[in-house]
Amino acid sequence: MRARLIDDREATAHLVARLVSDIDSFQGSRMDAPADDEHDPEGPTLAFERSQSQAILGQTRTHLAQIESALGRIDQGSYGTCVTCHQSIPVARLEARPYSTQCVTCAGKARA
Ligand SMILES: [Zn+2]
Repeated sequence: MRARLIDDREATAHLVARLVSDIDSFQGSRMDAPADDEHDPEGPTLAFERSQSQAILGQTRTHLAQIESALGRIDQGSYGTCVTCHQSIPVARLEARPYSTQCVTCAGKARA
């Protein structure tokens, strides 16, 4: 599971880096474009793509933080234990979501 999380962290960190550079390039092209969006047919599209990328970046960063915290719990020996009720998290759940911090019951309660 540790190797899987490390792989996932690598992939997610790359994705974050790519999204950041995408957003930078949007900002770069907007700086070249006329300040007046109304007369720039590409303006609204770029703004939309940029906001989409920023939304994805936010989610990806959250995911990266979840992976980091799961790796931290592996080091502490608390990985695989529900943070709320301290029961073991079923392996099937960890397979599906390696960064789970709660068992199905507690996660369900947290959501309700
Ligand atoms: Zn629990």
